[in-house]
Amino acid sequence: MKYKTIRGTRDILPAEISQWQDAENAARELFKRYGYSEIRTPVMEETGLFIKSVGEDTDIVKKEMFSFRDRGERDISLRPEGTAPIVRAYLENNLVNLNPFQKLYYIGPMFRAERPQAGRLRQFHQVGIEAIGSNSPALDAEVIIVMAGLLDSFGVKNYTMKLNNLGCADDKKKLSKSLKELFSKKEVASLLCDDCKRRAATNPLRVLDCKIESCKVVVRKYFKEVEFLCADCKKHFDDVLKFLDLVKIKYAVDPYIVRGLDYYTRTVFEASCGSLGAQNAVGAGGRYDNLISDMGGPVTGACGFAVGIDRALIAAGKVPGETGGAKVDVFVAPLGEEAYKKAFLVLADLRASGISCDIDYESRSLKSQMRSADKLKARFVLIIGDDEIKKGEAALRNMQTKEQVCVSFDKLAAAINGKIE
Ligand code: ATP
Ligand code: MG
Repeated sequence: MKYKTIRGTRDILPAEISQWQDAENAARELFKRYGYSEIRTPVMEETGLFIKSVGEDTDIVKKEMFSFRDRGERDISLRPEGTAPIVRAYLENNLVNLNPFQKLYYIGPMFRAERPQAGRLRQFHQVGIEAIGSNSPALDAEVIIVMAGLLDSFGVKNYTMKLNNLGCADDKKKLSKSLKELFSKKEVASLLCDDCKRRAATNPLRVLDCKIESCKVVVRKYFKEVEFLCADCKKHFDDVLKFLDLVKIKYAVDPYIVRGLDYYTRTVFEASCGSLGAQNAVGAGGRYDNLISDMGGPVTGACGFAVGIDRALIAAGKVPGETGGAKVDVFVAPLGEEAYKKAFLVLADLRASGISCDIDYESRSLKSQMRSADKLKARFVLIIGDDEIKKGEAALRNMQTKEQVCVSFDKLAAAINGKIE
């Protein structure tokens, strides 16, 4: 019987792992510069957490969650996103008492039961930040700047950063109401997809976010700017833009950006990449000023984003297999049984000195050992034969220059370290 990966999941193989590690390292380095600390939350949470935060009538909760009942009759879901678990952790662990303002980041897998296609997986990976505990527009700007910096460090080019202002909860209600009226008009409703016909009544903002082309056309034809923002929210957004202008971040204000999660208020943003085709969003985020208090915490503002690593690597044109494969500094090639024992000891010494090295476990001929060394892209081959053992030395061959020198066993590590610096 042959087992296969579950639909919509994939193995990240050694040939592409360096791209992931580079991306993760770049993210960690960037976040450190902005004062963010890593947090790791479980991949499973109570299902209620997501219903309450992301929202009952969102695609994520309605159709995309991997939910199950465990043996103790508890409703559990694989996390579809990172914000709600982090807010849960912030409150559960009383981080709020430690310091009510927290800058946190995460890297890890998320799970959504979507139809798998290019750039859309059921287990995908996100890197994101959450800054909890401030209402300042400077924070929205900083979060957007960090996302732009992250995309740059991943090598994603030609993305557009679209911003919108959803206003506070009251403003959103006003917008919702006028959208409901608009979408309930017969001539408009008849043009919407079945999902949007339902959304028009239950969550009309989501209609603006529909990916179906005909809905996009209807929305753009009938929904023009409506006045729903209060003075405070208008000013907040203007200030965010001013901070972005100050550091010359490019953006476009787009009234159709709403995000598929209910908790967003005020600033929302999305970075998209034309080259990605239908799945063109590489990252998105926004402010969520009511989530902390809705979850039983203090009334305090927060802002964050998530970038999809799988999609960002595609957008950056990273091709699997371009780099990768194990690489070693030294390939140790013993000739004969005695030499193999000596080589085993040498390997241990070299590795203890920080030198990466490997050996052929099958004791093959020198020729095939040299082939293995080539495969591993070894910079040096250390040949150990009976003669060498007698003399207390080994032959060190530079695979690039083909130059070969004899080095005594007790000086090997120092000599190699000197050559590879
Ligand atoms: P989309 O519009 O593509 O469905 P989304 O609005 O559901 O995206 P978010 O919840 O904002 O996405 O997640 C942030 C980022 O995570 C996305 O911009 C994308 O890069 C990535 N992402 C989301 N869902 C998937 C998925 N199923 N497979 C791969 N990446 C994903
Ligand atoms: Mg989605």
